[in-house]
Amino acid sequence: MDEKTAYVDKHGKRTDGRVLNEVRPIKIEVGVIPEADGSCYLEWGQNKVFAAVYGPNECIPKHMSDPTKAIIRYNYRMASFSVPDRKRPQPGRREVEISKVSGEAFEKVVFLERFPGTQIEVEVEILDSNAGTRVAALTAASVAMADAGIPMKDIIVGCGVGKAGGHVMVDLNKFEEDAPDAVDVPMAILPSTDEIVLLQLDGLATREEFQSMISEGIKACKMVYEKQKEALKQKYRIPAEESMNLPEQGEGFE
Ligand code: UDP
Repeated sequence: MDEKTAYVDKHGKRTDGRVLNEVRPIKIEVGVIPEADGSCYLEWGQNKVFAAVYGPNECIPKHMSDPTKAIIRYNYRMASFSVPDRKRPQPGRREVEISKVSGEAFEKVVFLERFPGTQIEVEVEILDSNAGTRVAALTAASVAMADAGIPMKDIIVGCGVGKAGGHVMVDLNKFEEDAPDAVDVPMAILPSTDEIVLLQLDGLATREEFQSMISEGIKACKMVYEKQKEALKQKYRIPAEESMNLPEQGEGFE
């Protein structure tokens, strides 16, 4: 078997049976942690993620607060049992980096200036992993933000894209991410404008491959966005009999 067919067979199927532009199965549940202001549990293939949002609350320590806007504190953590070789519990450089870039993505969407002097904490815990956890975490955290009622100009939705065995594909699993020629591009967008709020690149790609990755990544993100919407509607859907009692638009709620 040559390198090309090791990752995609002659029928266009990947080793886990998916086609190139197919995302692993996703399940999202909203409001799973009663003590948090907003929360989400997400399964994405083998990846399992809890996200909880707290705030806006008074910023502690005070010297970190910004009198003009809220600050985002995003903590991405992997449980020791979430990877094949037990992970040391203390956060490593990778977790610090992922927390930083993910927090910066939220700074682009949350209306921070509405909550001066406060902090919004986002805690994300990876319980099981098989590549693509940072984008799964962002996707879950964004649903938790919406569940917390934090005003945002759009939701954030992420998906991995990249290359293995010479093929551009979306949502790489660990086997594909470990290909000798692998390119790994985690990305996250705002689905109503296609604005990219997170983009990282590990590996080497030609300009054409990179352009194809971005367009395939955006399409994949939009598929994931449908799952986010479905999950939020599931929690916040107004039963038909209640919606009949709502005032007509313009009638007022007094
Ligand atoms: N991984 C691992 N040990 C670690 C960090 C990562 O086994 O300390 C695995 C884990 O399954 C993760 C994958 O490697 O999902 C890919 O890691 P990467 O840093 O590319 O981040 P991700 O793709 O999960 O966002």
